[in-house]
Order: sequence, then structure tokens, then C-alpha cells
Amino acid sequence: MSENEIEKLPGVGPATAEKLMDSGYTDLMAIAVESPRVLSDVAEIGETNAGKIIQAAKKAAEIGGFETGTELLEKRKNVGKLNTGAKSFNDLLGGGIETGSITEFFGEFGSGKTQIAHQILVNATRPEEDGGLDGEAMIIDTENCFRPGRISEIAEARDLDPQEILDKIHVGRAFNSHHQMLLAERALELGKEKAIRLLVVDSLTSHFRAEYVGRGALAERQQTLNKHLHKLLRFADRNNAAIVVTNQVTANPDQFFGDPTKPIGGHILGHTATFRVYLRKSKGDKRIARLMDSPNMPEGEAVFRVEEAGITE
Ligand code: ATP
Ligand code: MG
Repeated sequence: MSENEIEKLPGVGPATAEKLMDSGYTDLMAIAVESPRVLSDVAEIGETNAGKIIQAAKKAAEIGGFETGTELLEKRKNVGKLNTGAKSFNDLLGGGIETGSITEFFGEFGSGKTQIAHQILVNATRPEEDGGLDGEAMIIDTENCFRPGRISEIAEARDLDPQEILDKIHVGRAFNSHHQMLLAERALELGKEKAIRLLVVDSLTSHFRAEYVGRGALAERQQTLNKHLHKLLRFADRNNAAIVVTNQVTANPDQFFGDPTKPIGGHILGHTATFRVYLRKSKGDKRIARLMDSPNMPEGEAVFRVEEAGITE
């Protein structure tokens, strides 16, 4: 939808429209479902005015009604399942990483988050019958950990042509959280031209964590992260893409009351990620994945390996 459409709402001038667009409110529906308080913050307008804009957006957006279970079941048929590389891991997730949702992998250093990222970037380019999504893939790399050489290694171990796969992987290196958010916007643009079926953000939280320090910054950090996540969700919707984000666990014991398995990102990420998977190291190259939160799968664990060939059984 265009800026034009938002500008047509009563009470929205060009400046307000621009602020809304910049904050990720790029269509009427996004505005229609927002609360007046948040919208007034975002657009720097009064809450009453924000309420009126939301009402107008509701009218204009044709807020959907209810759908039958059968209709929803039909829509679920479009959900793709991306192979992780290990069958037990796929089973844990109900067949693989789902498109249309955000899946979060969190765990300490060396638990395999970045290795999984490399593996699924390769897999996403594969045809559906091979557990792929038959498309292209994208990664927003915030820690400078993406290695094309690793992609080649994983591809070669599977008798695939590394060049062909590397051509389908788009890498954006994010230097700070602001840049990271801009790259998500670029991703939306590129997604219009190319069938990008997987978007990885590795790591989702590291820049946010480094930049928003102290209690006073927490609210702002969460609000910004929320915007970012909603942009990612929009990407998932538009491209029927899988969104995979990685996240560290809190290392500072008194920062979040000392639970060593607690992911960073707080409630916002907890509510937005549909699947949350906790990774931990086991003996040697073994890793254990634990499904913490899923709408339709029981909690459980799977063992997999991180090898030269990538993620294996
Ligand atoms: P961080 O929080 O630091 O980003 P991470 O969870 O992303 O950690 P990974 O980088 O995915 O961790 O995992 C690193 C581990 O993967 C290494 O300790 C090593 O065991 C394994 N690994 C990395 N590259 C290879 C390779 N080419 N062959 C075999 N194992 C590898
Ligand atoms: Mg990593």
C-alpha cells in the first residue's frame, strides 16, 4: 500500500504519514490494529488524534471477520516446511521450520545457531521434494559470522553446486541496530523481485543489547525491537517465507534475575516468535534442541550434530 493511502486518512498530513511509514506502519491494517498510545508515540501526535486515525484506518482497511476452520486449514496448506538437516530436529518442529512464522533459536556461544543458519540458507534453495523451499534466501548478519566458504563446504558435502547456491543467498551486514532495521526494509523491497523464502537474522538481539544499555533504555529498546519484528512478520506474510532469528541467553547473572537459559529480548520477542528453540551443547559435536514454545507441537527435545558437512542426524 502507498503513502498516499495513509495520507488520505483524516488527521494524517505528509509529515505524520512519513513518520508512520518510517516506523513500519506501511499499510492501513497495521494502523487499524495499533493502540492509540503507541501510535501517538510513533507519530508524535496527540492520543485523541491517534485514536481518530485508528478508527478511520479500521473503516478503510476492512478489518477481516472470522474464518471457518476449513478455510484456515486451506490456508495452512501453503505453509512450507524447511529441512534443518536432521530428521529428529525436523520432527521436533512438526516437519521442519515453518514459513509464515518467526522461529527463534537461542542458546549460548557455540551452541550451533550460526551453523544452523548456514545449513538452512543452503536448504532453502533446494526443491521442495528435498526439504527445501525452492527459492532464494537472505541473511542479515550482525556479528560478521556469515562465511561463504562454509556454504560451499556444506553444499559440496551434499554434492550440490556451491556457486549455484551462493548466487541465491543474499547477505546484508548490519553495523548497528538502525542499519539492521533498514536492511529489513531493503529485504521487503528485494522480496518483491525475488522469491525469497527464508530470511535469517543472526543475531537478532546483539546490536540492541549493546546499544540500549541500562534500565532507562529498556522500554525504548523493546519498542524498537517490536517494530523490527513486525517488519520481519510482514516479510514472512508477503513472501510466505520462514523467518529465523537467533538470540543469545543472558550471560550477566543479575541482569535478568539469573536464569542462565533465559533468552534476551523479553516479552516482545516471546510473543512474536511462534517457535522458540533452546540449543545447548552436548558431548563433542552433539547439540540438543529443546522446543520451548509452539502453538501445536508438544515440548520436547532432539539431538543433532554440527559437523563439517553441516547439520546432521
Ligand atoms: P555465538 O553465540 O557465539 O554466535 P553460535 O551458537 O552461533 O554461537 P556456532 O558458531 O553456530 O555457535 O557454533 C560454533 C561451533 O560449530 C564450533 O564450536 C564448532 O564446534 C562447530 N563448527 C563450526 N564450523 C565447523 C566446521 N566447518 N566443521 C565442523 N564443525 C564446525
Ligand atoms: Mg553465532
